[in-house]
Amino acid sequence: MSQETRHDEEGPDRPASPAMWRGFRRKCPNCGQGPMFETYLKVSDSCPVCAEELRHHRADDGPAYLTILVVGHLMAPVIHVLFTQFRPDPLVMATILTVGCVALSLYLLPRLKGLVVGIQWAKRMHGFGKTA
Ligand SMILES: [Zn+2]
Repeated sequence: MSQETRHDEEGPDRPASPAMWRGFRRKCPNCGQGPMFETYLKVSDSCPVCAEELRHHRADDGPAYLTILVVGHLMAPVIHVLFTQFRPDPLVMATILTVGCVALSLYLLPRLKGLVVGIQWAKRMHGFGKTA
């Protein structure tokens, strides 16, 4: 079967950028209105607004890797500047960096998971491509 035939069966085009942005905002990648998550990191089986099935996602460890990547690249310069410019007491520095890393990680993890689910939805990965 040719690639064109498969594309015709898949349905309308799904642009990746809006889906990723909606996912980052923790909204349904299809409508952008309904919440993507039931709880902090549990993706809803389907969107309560447009009924798009979201249970097909397979984000797995991807959001955690992305969170570590982003937090590491943001906090490494902070450590450098904090140490070279201000030289705080080690306990103060450890407290500031620990709270900063944990807070930034908890902020980014569900948003990056939403972004990954948005990519998977837009690219019709896993079960997202199947029509019901
Ligand atoms: Zn929706």
